[in-house]
Amino acid sequence: MTLLTGSPVAADAPPTRVNALAAELEDLASRPWTLMEVCGGQTHAIVRWGLDQLLPSGMRLIHGPGCPVCVTPAATVDAALALARRPEVILASYGDMLRVPGSDPVGGADLLGLRATGGDVRLLTSPLEALSLARRHPDRLVVFLAVGFETTAPATAVALLQARRQGIENLRVLASHVRVVPAMEAVLSEPDCAIDGFLAAGHVAAVMGLGELQALAERHRLPVVVTGFQPEELMQGVVTCVRLLEEGGCGVRNAYGAVVRPDGNPQARSAMEAVFEPVSAPWRGLGTITGGALALREDYRRFDAFPLLDPPGPTAAAPEDNPCISGRILQGRALPSDCPAFGGRCRPEHPLGAPMVSSEGACAAYHRYRGAGIPARCG
Ligand code: SF4
Repeated sequence: MTLLTGSPVAADAPPTRVNALAAELEDLASRPWTLMEVCGGQTHAIVRWGLDQLLPSGMRLIHGPGCPVCVTPAATVDAALALARRPEVILASYGDMLRVPGSDPVGGADLLGLRATGGDVRLLTSPLEALSLARRHPDRLVVFLAVGFETTAPATAVALLQARRQGIENLRVLASHVRVVPAMEAVLSEPDCAIDGFLAAGHVAAVMGLGELQALAERHRLPVVVTGFQPEELMQGVVTCVRLLEEGGCGVRNAYGAVVRPDGNPQARSAMEAVFEPVSAPWRGLGTITGGALALREDYRRFDAFPLLDPPGPTAAAPEDNPCISGRILQGRALPSDCPAFGGRCRPEHPLGAPMVSSEGACAAYHRYRGAGIPARCG
């Protein structure tokens, strides 16, 4: 174990509390447990503060599939690019999505590049801005590329509830919202899965509550600990998870009680459930995940942008045969530094894959906090 001291990465951390938790962990762990942190935001915090290097020898934190930008299929980006080429369309999305390559990543096709060549592509921070754009441009068609887990899906739902109520006709969404618990289920169903427990993302649980996680934990007889994103919150989550494992227990523990209520946010959930329904869908690099996405319910399909495409919907067989190993990284089977392109052909200013683009992407985290070409994991 390395004590958290004043390295540039850890300069702002509260070392006393984190180091105290690391010492507690050292006493607690009788074997090298493997935990997966699900959320890309947690991955960034772990890499930033070097928390993985504070673990007892052999114990591992592996990175999970919880980066929504990373798992958006290339075919969906292709669909957005195709729509953005139409003169009547204003294509809008969150900033990270504008830089994610489509199915031709080596060629550098992304929405920002399209904007540079004259496409009307807008960066938004909220789906309500897309609604407002549609109101301000009644002669144009506003298409919102909507990505994110259950944290952002309610905001998309609220925009569509309002659009329907206000009779807005010129708003469409390319809905690419995904659900986190089916992804955890998919990771666990791999035959050689070595995960002993999960750190679950506090912001998803703040919406969804603990019910789905509880069911997952019981089905697989393992511990799931809901944590926050600060270094001490994450280390507290690790300690709580390891304590449960050492006691032979399973189930859900809420180590983020200041933010997460057992029943989540019923209002946000009810907006989301009014507009979306769970469907099985492909995740970039991970294949089709049963119940892993949210599709528009029948009453809201008039807002669906996919039927505008010819043929409708994203092309199913978009090639993804570049050196990017994002699928293996998103399953926790490889580290960014295992990728032959990491830090060389693939860099933040020239990303070959979404994990190098996204602010929640593991490759971006390693590049930013560990540097190109530096072996990423200790112990
Ligand atoms: S470094 Fe990451 S994003 Fe870049 S090609 Fe490799 S796996 Fe893909």
